[in-house]
Amino acid sequence: MTVDVLNFWENTALEDMIHVQWESLCDNCGRCCLHKLEDEDTGDIYFTDVVCHYIDEQSCQCPHYEARQQLVPDCLTIDSNWGDKFNWLPSTCAYRLLHEKKPLFDWHPLISGDVETVHLAGISVRGRTFSDDEVNEKEIDLHIINWVK
Ligand code: SF4
Ligand code: SF4
Repeated sequence: MTVDVLNFWENTALEDMIHVQWESLCDNCGRCCLHKLEDEDTGDIYFTDVVCHYIDEQSCQCPHYEARQQLVPDCLTIDSNWGDKFNWLPSTCAYRLLHEKKPLFDWHPLISGDVETVHLAGISVRGRTFSDDEVNEKEIDLHIINWVK
């Protein structure tokens, strides 16, 4: 099935999207596969450059997408009813942007028509991460980054 070319993301609420539309919103930046730290006092979220070891570092996609929660129990499954939990996603994520009633960026593949533009724009995690099977969990706070908000 192909995705509707009539900019469905501009006139369809997240909860009303059909499966193929919903899935096409993901730009495959891989940012949601980065480990995050939460400040217990403030609830602030900090991203690190440590990424799930299952990710394909070139495509920034999950090779085990269907089975991901069996492999990684706390792997996120985004839901249109997430509410405040959309803050767990990076500010560039299409799901968070649409939840916040903001437009997609020009580099989003739905707009550019090119799956590479998310990488060319420096949005994806390609070439910028350490795998979580190489990093000592006790030192993960040394990996906090500021290129994801
Ligand atoms: S952060 Fe959002 S757009 Fe990027 S890979 Fe995750 S779900 Fe897709
Ligand atoms: S299991 Fe897949 S989707 Fe989940 S965090 Fe790891 S690479 Fe990302």
